[in-house]
Amino acid sequence: MIKCDCHLHSDLSTDGISPMEEEVLRAIDLGLGTLCFTEHNDYGTNPDGSFVVDTDRYYSLFSSLKEKYADRIELLFGIEAGLQPTDGIISYFTDYLKDHPFDFIIGSSHVVKNKDPYYPVFFEDYPDDDSAYRAYFEEELENASIYGDMYDSYGHLDYILRYGRSGNKGFSYEKFADVLDALLKEIIKHGNVIEINTAGFRKGMGQPNPHIDIIRRYRELGGLPPTIGSDAHKTADMAADFERAEQILLEAGFRTYSVFRSRKRYEIDPAG
Ligand SMILES: [Zn+2]
Ligand SMILES: [Zn+2]
Repeated sequence: MIKCDCHLHSDLSTDGISPMEEEVLRAIDLGLGTLCFTEHNDYGTNPDGSFVVDTDRYYSLFSSLKEKYADRIELLFGIEAGLQPTDGIISYFTDYLKDHPFDFIIGSSHVVKNKDPYYPVFFEDYPDDDSAYRAYFEEELENASIYGDMYDSYGHLDYILRYGRSGNKGFSYEKFADVLDALLKEIIKHGNVIEINTAGFRKGMGQPNPHIDIIRRYRELGGLPPTIGSDAHKTADMAADFERAEQILLEAGFRTYSVFRSRKRYEIDPAG
């Protein structure tokens, strides 16, 4: 059983709902051994400053909960950094990610050319889903190269498949093999991992993010064990579909999954 949920938002994130302490108590109820909070920091994306967590407040609340529940669960301090290949954002994260005592850093692409595929209007810039998906993967490749080892795990690698007009129906690895191979190799080259993000199941995709074919190929290319996260924004979604994630992990050829503490990677055997 997978006992570490390493992608989680509380109400400190702009779109989070549950308070941190409720999530800690829920994790204890679920029998989790480790919980890693990864609040949003999408610096430079929204002019109103939303989706940038107040990191000092976050750290202070986290620290008090870590101490309070120390004998019941391991709490880890993480962040989900919204990566973009833009000078101001690169220089911001270069300092920010070093200047805080993070256990774990997820690097995620939430936008392409600063536009969010969550909104249908995004797709009007592209003749079809495939060209939008390709633009997304190409920007991830650029990010993976620029941000190097500044992050630990690349978040929900095919996030854009959640929002295309045809969803993930038209996706096949072969269609994007050139850019996806380059992206996976770039991630692996820096000693980073990818995550298995179970939110895809909750979005009705019948797959986690990324698609199992991407996870399989990542393994073939020599990728280290992924991290596992529910990407819950409320207690009800915590550790959701972790049995399916475990099955996919094993099907892709992994025996363990990864957890990061103080930015150092540890491997955990779900059967152990
Ligand atoms: Zn995300
Ligand atoms: Zn997230």
